[in-house]
Amino acid sequence: MAAFSHIPVGEEGLKEIYQWLDDWVVKNKGLVRKEVIGKSSDHWDIPAVFITDEAVPNHNKQIAVITSGRHGQELGTRVVGPEVIRYLCSHDAKEIRETQLVIVIPVVNPEGFVLNEFHSSMTSLTQTERLVLGGLLKSFPPDMMIDFHSLGQSAGSKYDRGDMEVIIPANTSRWAMDEQIHQYVAREMQKSAESGGWPYEIHTLEDLATYYFGDTKIGNMPWTYLKEKVYLLHMQDSCDNYDVPGESAYTNYTCGPAYLKWHTLVFGMETNHYALSQAADIASSALAPCSALLKMGCTRFPWEKDKGYPVNILQGDFRISIRPLGSNVSQHRASRVRIWSERMNFNLPQRELVDQETTTARVRYFGRDLPMEFALCLRMRQNNITSITSGSKQVKFETFKDSCSTFVYIPIEMEKAGTIELTIKHPYH
Ligand SMILES: [Zn+2]
Repeated sequence: MAAFSHIPVGEEGLKEIYQWLDDWVVKNKGLVRKEVIGKSSDHWDIPAVFITDEAVPNHNKQIAVITSGRHGQELGTRVVGPEVIRYLCSHDAKEIRETQLVIVIPVVNPEGFVLNEFHSSMTSLTQTERLVLGGLLKSFPPDMMIDFHSLGQSAGSKYDRGDMEVIIPANTSRWAMDEQIHQYVAREMQKSAESGGWPYEIHTLEDLATYYFGDTKIGNMPWTYLKEKVYLLHMQDSCDNYDVPGESAYTNYTCGPAYLKWHTLVFGMETNHYALSQAADIASSALAPCSALLKMGCTRFPWEKDKGYPVNILQGDFRISIRPLGSNVSQHRASRVRIWSERMNFNLPQRELVDQETTTARVRYFGRDLPMEFALCLRMRQNNITSITSGSKQVKFETFKDSCSTFVYIPIEMEKAGTIELTIKHPYH
């Protein structure tokens, strides 16, 4: 049963959702708590709902943040937050609660909700969002973040009107393997939604810019399409920091800056409140890819050492990469954020197969954040790694596998800037 079987509207509608949240928190004590994280400029509360298994310490959990209702007139988003909260308290979400802290902000923009107007921005965070999200995310830097929007009969897309639902690997960059990883995850979300009967598309942020800012005149489309794609690539701004006012960026989604700030896995979602005329259908259709992503956060991706969201290739590629360190999830996150902000100060790491039994790897760090601690990780076709040395010193390492190869994960501490060279021995069969 969906949380809402109708779409709440106006002031009464907002109160209805807030009452539902309060009742839900009372009914699900121990799993859910609510915190008012700020107020809109017309003084509506902006509540966040925290869902997790409180018996498991937070330092062993991933952080996922789900926002909805940033654009006031996007009616479909109103039923998404409660539906996700309802799901997260169900039996199916037990493992999610044990391994993640999920924070849901069902109505980011209550003022726009009541007015039933956009009352927001497509190109930057609003002042309210900077204050409210800035405060929250400083304490809970997310590993994954989704922002839900909703397309309507004519609002939203200018070339595919009234019927489209979309997963948008949003505001990422082509740094390291990020584009490929976001597409990989999006495809898994899409497959899961399709198996539930919901046909989603995967569009890039450039596609999105085209359909928001493109032209409805049929003859202009190819030119507009190209122009918008190029425009966007030059418009991404790394300075929107949630809490810093006055900076602007291309940020249709609240999660945009999280990628640049914390290397968060970020997705924009567009459900549809015109093609799906029933509130319960909008809720189910939105939940399908969302729950699939939350569940992926409990699994180990083939190229990752540990279970969790795939956010740890910070420089390089699948074959040789720089990754975070740490003995629990929160240390790991802190290391990730630190290395991510220093990523420009690493050389692209290099490797060479010297002979059939020997691989060398080199990495250079030329920044000032010392001592710099990170892991160098190589994907090897050899099963058996016998030793790793740096000069005459033995170096400790760990291994993990995917279906056909072995990853060596080598913790490194650099006291001063410079280059480290490692020799990896692997017997030849
Ligand atoms: Zn929107």
